[in-house]
Formats: sequence, structure tokens, C-alpha cells
Amino acid sequence: MKSTKGTRHTEGATNGTRDLTLADVKQELYNRHHPSLTFLDIEAHAKTIHRIRALKQKHDVVMLGHNYMEPLVFGLSDKAEQGDSLGLSMYAAKTEAQYLIFNGVPFMAETAKILSPDKTVLVADKTAGCSLADNFGAEDVKVLKALYPGAPVMIYVNSYAEAKAESDICCTSANAAHIAKSLPGDTVIFVPDIFFAQNLEEELKGEKTVAYPGKDNTARGAVCEVHERFTLADLLAIRESFEIPKGHSHRKLYAHWECRPDVLKEADFYGSTSQIMKDIAARVAGDGLERAFVASECELTSNLAQEFPAVQFWTACSIRCTHMAKVSLGKIANILEAIDEGADLGEFEVTLDADVIDNARAPIERMLEFS
Ligand code: SF4
Repeated sequence: MKSTKGTRHTEGATNGTRDLTLADVKQELYNRHHPSLTFLDIEAHAKTIHRIRALKQKHDVVMLGHNYMEPLVFGLSDKAEQGDSLGLSMYAAKTEAQYLIFNGVPFMAETAKILSPDKTVLVADKTAGCSLADNFGAEDVKVLKALYPGAPVMIYVNSYAEAKAESDICCTSANAAHIAKSLPGDTVIFVPDIFFAQNLEEELKGEKTVAYPGKDNTARGAVCEVHERFTLADLLAIRESFEIPKGHSHRKLYAHWECRPDVLKEADFYGSTSQIMKDIAARVAGDGLERAFVASECELTSNLAQEFPAVQFWTACSIRCTHMAKVSLGKIANILEAIDEGADLGEFEVTLDADVIDNARAPIERMLEFS
């Protein structure tokens, strides 16, 4: 999907050849009919959104929006600029833009930097962390390699570049099982997500042994603090309160790979964010999907509700990623104002040593060969 300069930023249907006005922006926001956007949200933030969009266009910025961003931030990105961290990084690498603003947490922006080393990759909050990436590093990979000599290390893309650089191949939640099956040998080391590893182990039963942190060893691993919060008891309560009985043909309970194994077993469908979205789209286009609950970050459901208005989504908005929530309209506007003023971008720029970029790029490229 190669972009052409000057045609990527069309600023929506209202733009034509003139600049987008504040009234245009407000109208677009109201026209979204988003179930979780109130009059107050729109009136309070329209001016900032208008400024962001004007500067985005002026400086030909690619603004990548992760699926877990709140709707007003997510909506700053064109459709092609929305998605999961790897898909966004691959998209950005094909564009000509010099500036990439990644609306997500820094490990995601690192992947964009690895795939676009000559571009300026910026994030709204460099202190926004991630319970998976923050609690697992290159030294932890070395510990596992020593425990299982010769076994390939497959690292989940939700990790920092330095840990990737020590690993043999990357994976996403959409391709982990496929890649693991294709790797040589009887054993694969999977890091850093312990629940994901347990789910993969179940999926690969009889085909491949999955070694992971905490399984017959004391190596350090991590879990996603968002998906960890869903328990089997929660899912059973959700089924009852939202009337989503197991096996119902038009009501579905979805779970992400990062959830606990018993949560995945209870779900009607489990998969990556993109696989969940594809299943919803296929059902909507087919026999129809009446009601759904997605055991994942709550803003994902907010964005799904916008994309699939015919589906009644239930959500658990107490379950939010506090790291992702650090990305705000005000902070994004600050990046663009700094670009506009020609100010120092160090506060926002994601940088990596050249050798880390080279070493982390190899496992990503190996993954892409499998895809
Ligand atoms: S939801 Fe938050 S804590 Fe979980 S993997 Fe994503 S960034 Fe990390």
C-alpha cells in the first residue's frame, strides 16, 4: 500500500481543495454517531482536533493509531493508518513521510523505527510503559537460551527492541502458532507472555513442546496486566448478565490470546485483535451478529462499536490499559506544535542504536517471510 505524497491526507470527504474548518471537524465528529462520544466530548475537544489535523496535513505526518486508542485519538488516523502495532509499522515503512507519530506505547514505536530507521518516529509519552515489555529484557532471553540450548527463541512483538535483538524470530498473536509449527526441532522457546505461552502450548499439543518462563524453571516472564484481569468467573457472569449463552448463533463472546487459558476455553472465539475483527466482520456480512463482548482492552470495543454499528457491544470500561491511556490529544498536539516551530523533538523521538536496529530487524524479517 504505497502512499503518494499529496494524496494520502485527503482530510475526509469534506476537504476537497480547501482547508478543513473547525465547523467541518465538529460536523465530522457528530456524523460519526459514536455511541461513547457525547456532545461534551466533541465540543471540548474539537478545537484541539482541528489544530492536530491541520498540522498533520501541513507537515505530511503519518499518524499511526493503535486499536486500543480512545475513539477521539483513534479517529485522528486515516483508515489505512489504524490497526495493530506490526501492521502499522509495516504500513509506515512504505510511506514517504519523514514524520511518524505512533499513537501507542514506546515498544510499538520501536518496531516502526526498526522498519523505518531513516524516519523520525515520535510518541506522545515516552514514559508510557507496558507490563509485558517492561518486565522482560535481553538478559531474560539469554537465561532461557542457556536453559534450552539449541531451541529457537520466538518472541512476541510486544517486547522492546533489545529483547528482540537476542531472539531468533518474532511473532504476533495472529501468526504465533503457524510460525512455531514451522520452526525446526521439537521445542520452541516462547517469550515473554506466560498466558500466551500456555495457550500456545495447548494449541500445539502433540506437535511441539513450548518452553517458557516459569515452566519448570525460574526464568522471568510477564503477562499483560489488562488481559490478565479477565477471569473465568467474569466470563460466566458476562454470559449471564449480557445474555450471551455459549454456542448462541448470533451472540458471541470473544477473547484475546493474552487472556488466561480457562478464559480462552470459555470464549466462543479466541484470536488476535485482527482475527477477532475479521470474525465480527464476516458474521456481520453473513448471518448477522446481534451482540458481542470482547475480553480485551475496553477502547478496542469502543472502536469496534464505531465500525460495526449493527452489533450491540457490551464492554468493561474498568479494564483499560493505563499505559495506552497516557496518549492524549493534548500531548499529540504538543508534538505537532514542536514540529511546526522547528523545536527540538527529543522529548518525543524514539531512538535506537544502529546495532540494536540491525539485530532486532532480523527476527522481524524472519517472521515476515513466514507470513
Ligand atoms: S494492553 Fe497495555 S499492558 Fe497489555 S500488552 Fe498492550 S500496552 Fe502492554
